[in-house]
Amino acid sequence: MSINKAKIVATLGPASSDYKVMLAMVKAGVNVFRINFSHSDHKTAEENIKKVRKLNKELDQNIAILADLQGPKLRIGEVEEGAVLKVDDELTFTNKKVKGNAKQVFMTYQQFASDVRVGDRIMIDDGKLLLETVTSNGIDKVTAKVLQGGPLNSRKGVNLPNTRISLPCLTEKDLADLEVAMKNEVEWIGLSFVRNPKDVRQLKDIIAKNNAPCHVISKIEKPEAVVEIDEIIELSDAIMVARGDLGVEVPMQGVPLIQKMIVNKCHLLSKPVVIATQMMESMIDSLTPTRAEVNDVANSVLDGADAVMLSGETSVGKNPVQVVEAMSKIIAHVEESGQISTETENPPKYRNKRFITDSICYNASKIADQVGASAILTMTFSGYTAFKISSHRPKTSIFMFTSNRSILNTMSLLWGVQGFFYNKTVSTDDTFSDIKQIVKDKGLVSTGDLIVKIASMPIEEMGMTNMLKISQIDE
Ligand code: PEP
Repeated sequence: MSINKAKIVATLGPASSDYKVMLAMVKAGVNVFRINFSHSDHKTAEENIKKVRKLNKELDQNIAILADLQGPKLRIGEVEEGAVLKVDDELTFTNKKVKGNAKQVFMTYQQFASDVRVGDRIMIDDGKLLLETVTSNGIDKVTAKVLQGGPLNSRKGVNLPNTRISLPCLTEKDLADLEVAMKNEVEWIGLSFVRNPKDVRQLKDIIAKNNAPCHVISKIEKPEAVVEIDEIIELSDAIMVARGDLGVEVPMQGVPLIQKMIVNKCHLLSKPVVIATQMMESMIDSLTPTRAEVNDVANSVLDGADAVMLSGETSVGKNPVQVVEAMSKIIAHVEESGQISTETENPPKYRNKRFITDSICYNASKIADQVGASAILTMTFSGYTAFKISSHRPKTSIFMFTSNRSILNTMSLLWGVQGFFYNKTVSTDDTFSDIKQIVKDKGLVSTGDLIVKIASMPIEEMGMTNMLKISQIDE
């Protein structure tokens, strides 16, 4: 099983939903399985959730599930075979469910004509086709001139980078999918096409009202979200740089710097960040990645991503296990080099209510590196200290102990964190001695190693982390 610090998220689909394939993927290094509600019905999603839970029992693992909501994804309807758009042609978007051709096409977004303005750009099929709005009747018909042509295929996605669309971030479909995700207590929910902090608050409120143990990953794929990125990161539990749609919604050359900017901000706010889409795209068909893909994964890890994600590569690709193996190898090699950007000078500055815990976590990371400790051991119920320590990127291992099974799985997304179940609360001394023995018995530390332990004292009160101890592993 992989002990890489950067984690791997793999999307389930027809190529990977077989239990044996999933088992091999976990052995190859998957930490989080993603269920993409753009393509998964409820029955398949629930079957896959059950398989992940079974895998966790069988392999004694804490694999998390990310349920990714589709969000207000716009699409065209069915199109006749062989339709091709040519430069300067006019295409009509209609609200009527017609079979499309090179002259007119059905648009799923019913308020399109009222939201779009003359001159707004319309992109189809990940930006392969580019059009400019010429007229709109404000009700149900929009005409657009083709600026960049090509084949027009059925049900392709539509992006409107300059149009303020009035669809809610959570559609009716999303709300139904969310019910399934909450009922099955999935650890992470992906919120697609986030535009502003209100969108994140809305999802978090629904989760809180339902008392569900789900955490929110805001997917950054709209220019509006980039503008309000600080508040969105603060409100979210994690962030995904969703480069597929982002690279269509903003000029593609802007994506690399936006990615780096988001990774840095996430470190500073102690929020995990996932880099997604086309990381190993060529392995959908091929047994080896391109050199550019190897560089992309390596550079994302070097920059300090918590996790890298596979989409089509594992959901529909020919090599779902081999692509995880290749990704694991790239991560391991980069991490062995010691060149990964692990230092974030981010001491807690304000005396807020978490100030003591924040100071312990920051200093535990510093002391661990300074004394050459082999591990930091933390007790947590909410996962808070694991988020904090991980964000400081210590060179040592981070072992988290918790009695909260949901948090145990949730933390599988975080850089460097390995979780263990532990539910005794006799005394601080007993707990420290127990968890020290656990990591020794598992062969994760050896006699003579120094370890840094943090906890709340007195331990039975399960309060905020307020103490730090350095000790040595004895015979
Ligand atoms: C993306 O656009 O990069 C992405 C991850 O979103 P999805 O795969 O849900 O379209």
